[in-house]
Amino acid sequence: MAYRSLVVILAIVFNVCSFAEAQEWKSGVDWQEPPLVSPGTTNDQAPSDAIVLFNGTDLSAFENGDKWLVEDGAAIPKGGEIRTKQHFGSMQLHVEWSAPTEVKGSGQGRGNSGIFLMGLYEVQVLDSFENETYFDGQAGSIYKQTAPLANAMRKPGEWNTYDIVFNAPVFKVNGDVETPGYVTLIHNGVLLLNHFELLGPTSYVDAPHYVPHAETGPIALQFHGDPVKFRNIWLRELKPAVGHRTSAGFHIGKKAEPKPKADKQVKQDAEKAKEKAKADEDSPKVEAEKKKADVKAVGE
Ligand code: MG
Repeated sequence: MAYRSLVVILAIVFNVCSFAEAQEWKSGVDWQEPPLVSPGTTNDQAPSDAIVLFNGTDLSAFENGDKWLVEDGAAIPKGGEIRTKQHFGSMQLHVEWSAPTEVKGSGQGRGNSGIFLMGLYEVQVLDSFENETYFDGQAGSIYKQTAPLANAMRKPGEWNTYDIVFNAPVFKVNGDVETPGYVTLIHNGVLLLNHFELLGPTSYVDAPHYVPHAETGPIALQFHGDPVKFRNIWLRELKPAVGHRTSAGFHIGKKAEPKPKADKQVKQDAEKAKEKAKADEDSPKVEAEKKKADVKAVGE
């Protein structure tokens, strides 16, 4: 055991020495310390810096929220869409939803709702468990812009999680798009949208095209007539990491010199070279060349 420990210690010392010899790259950026965020006990719980929109009690964070039914900790669509009173731009959004236990209708008529980012860009909510519809209209699609990368739907009545990362579009002063919007979506732990570039607001009738809008907007939950359930809705506003460049990137430390080979290695290399030369000489091609040369010599 003591011998094993000694070997481990020597290996660590050797590694540290190796790093010390190599040059280290430094970015030249002075980064601010990232803010401390206390996560929930499980990943579905709101972290300490989250804005909680619905925790199962009421929909007071939403305009028109009093029209929906809140029952057993879940919000159920009724009487029109609801929109957050507060407006948001780029965000990490967590939503849990369940398709109605009682299966009614088919295609777009079965368990339909939606999450509209900035009130404009719909991440589709639909009962896509053994339910055929157009692919850019199934659960996890950006409605009529892209199909999701997979169908990770749980059975009707079971809870699904959507974890969305949304980068809001940025417009120039003249209204042109400077940076389009992007959506990443993880459904029940499965990646459905991988930084998808939005083509504009989602529409049932119009081809998508951007129309300039404010830097923030509401999150809207769609009323489509189906008793889809929602619960545990929270978000984190995204802020970029902050740093300022103090210099161009640079290396520090001494450049590692190639180590001279040990005598044993030099001898081994020489042996190998010798063996290779002999093998080449014995090869049929070399033999043939030799014979040809001999014949030629004789002929002369
Ligand atoms: Mg919908």
